[in-house]
Amino acid sequence: MPELPEVETLRLGLIKYVLGHKILDVEILHPKVFQGEKEKVIGSTVKDARRVGKGLILELSNGYCLAIHIKLTGQLIYRDEKTKNVSLSAKVGGDLPNKFTHVIFKLSKLTANSQKPTAYLYYNDQRRFGWIKVIKSDKVSKLPFFRDMGPEPFKDLTFARFKFVVGKKVTKIKPLLMDQTNMGGIGNIYANDALFRAGIDPRKTGKSLSEEELKKLYDSILFVLKKGLASRGASELSFVNILGQEGEYQNHTLVYGKRGQKCPNCGSTIKFIRIGGRGTYFCPNCQQ
Ligand SMILES: [Zn+2]
Repeated sequence: MPELPEVETLRLGLIKYVLGHKILDVEILHPKVFQGEKEKVIGSTVKDARRVGKGLILELSNGYCLAIHIKLTGQLIYRDEKTKNVSLSAKVGGDLPNKFTHVIFKLSKLTANSQKPTAYLYYNDQRRFGWIKVIKSDKVSKLPFFRDMGPEPFKDLTFARFKFVVGKKVTKIKPLLMDQTNMGGIGNIYANDALFRAGIDPRKTGKSLSEEELKKLYDSILFVLKKGLASRGASELSFVNILGQEGEYQNHTLVYGKRGQKCPNCGSTIKFIRIGGRGTYFCPNCQQ
């Protein structure tokens, strides 16, 4: 599932390309994905794009917003006259709209009352677990997804908070990092890599970690998330940026996805196990 670096990459793209556009119309091809009344957003202008954990909020000029969660395979792709020839990743599934397109936002940046769209924002989703909700801006923080979100790296997840959240729990450390009510934005890829960089066995409990280990882990979380962001995210399943291009972190992972390969530190074989049902990669020599 796209994690903080992927969703942040998308947010930066929304800021660059979609901000300032008026929504002329919303074409809904698959009703399950779009929840709420489209009439509430038509005629409004996109004012801001915010990210909360793995979720996105497009703030509109009329007091409403679009809350978006791309879940496993959602994509938001912008096309206009200037960007229409940017070649799309094969992960998009062909020219837009295509069979994976469920919602089309028809946009215009013209101030005149032109009803002719000058740009399109496509919501594609192969697995269709994602959602777009129309909601009043002052109510969005009450949606369970946003309400239950824990503190976030680079925002309010200080080391003290991190220590408080994971340091007392008898749950295994890896699922603790991925539980969005503990902290927002971390999923399987970055949890695996952060634990490797910190030299911590993912099966250890939060409570068993020393102050030094917790500090190393905290620093490693920030490190791998920054690296993911610098690589414009990981395109493992379907993730693409606002122009339909893939990220590169999948080519730079430390242990994630490297079952049976050599550890980059010590040359031991990277092991694969499941913790809480999720694929876990680690070096039994470096992570203890
Ligand atoms: Zn190793």
